[in-house]
Amino acid sequence: MLAERFLTPRVAVFALAVVACQVYAEQAGTPAWIDATATLDSATTPVYEGDAPMRFAFLKDMRRGDPLTLSVFSLGAHSGTHVDAPMHFLVDGAPVDRIALDALIGPARVIQIADSVQAIDAVELNRHQWRGAERLLFRTRSTARRWMSSAVFHRDFAYIAPDAAQLLVDAGVKLVGIDYISAEQFGAPAPRTHRIILGRGTPIVEGLDLSDAPGGDYDLIVLPMKVRGHEGAPARAILRRR
Ligand SMILES: [Zn+2]
Repeated sequence: MLAERFLTPRVAVFALAVVACQVYAEQAGTPAWIDATATLDSATTPVYEGDAPMRFAFLKDMRRGDPLTLSVFSLGAHSGTHVDAPMHFLVDGAPVDRIALDALIGPARVIQIADSVQAIDAVELNRHQWRGAERLLFRTRSTARRWMSSAVFHRDFAYIAPDAAQLLVDAGVKLVGIDYISAEQFGAPAPRTHRIILGRGTPIVEGLDLSDAPGGDYDLIVLPMKVRGHEGAPARAILRRR
C-alpha cells in the first residue's frame, strides 16, 4: 500500500514524459519508434505448451552487496518476440544467423484482424489491403487480449492458415509476423503454414507486441540474436509510422 502511494505519481510523471517525448518527436517531423517487443519476464511472458521454461537469475547482485551485478538466462529459442528461421521446419533451411537483413528491415504493414477471427485464411486475408506490402504483421485478438504479457498459454490464438500463407509467399512477401508465439494453429496436424512460409526462405516473426501499433504502414526493424546454426532466436522488434 505504502509503495503504491509513492509509486503512482512517479508512474504518472513517467507516462507524461513518454507522451511529451513522442509529441516532441512527431512535431520535429520524425515519428517516434514504437517498441513491438514483448518484455521477457518469466512472470509475464507466455511459453508455448511443452517448450522450455524461461529462467533468469542473478549470479552476483550489487543490491545484495556483491561488487558487481551478473546474471544468467536460460530460455527456449522461441521465447517472447522471436524469429523463426527456415531451419525450424526444413532440414536444409537457413539458420537464424544467415537470414538476410533485407528481410528483417524495411517497410511493413500492420493488418488489423477482428477479435472474432481465429483463422486468418485466404478469405479473411483478402478482406484487407495487403497486396503490395513487402512485410505483413497481423494484429489480432492476441494483442487486444494482451496475451503476450500474460504467462498463461492460450491455445485459441489467431493463426495464419496454410491457404493464406500460400497467397503471401506467392505475392513475394519478404517477412510475415504475428502477435502470439506461433503463426500455426495450435494442434494443427502438420506444420503446413510454417513449411509454406519458411519453405520460400521467408522468416516469420512471432510473439510481437502490437499494442501500440494499430493497423497501417510502418518502417520495421526486427533483429534476432545472431546464434550460429540455430533455427530461431529472440529478437527486438521496433516500428515507426511511415
Ligand atoms: Zn517460433
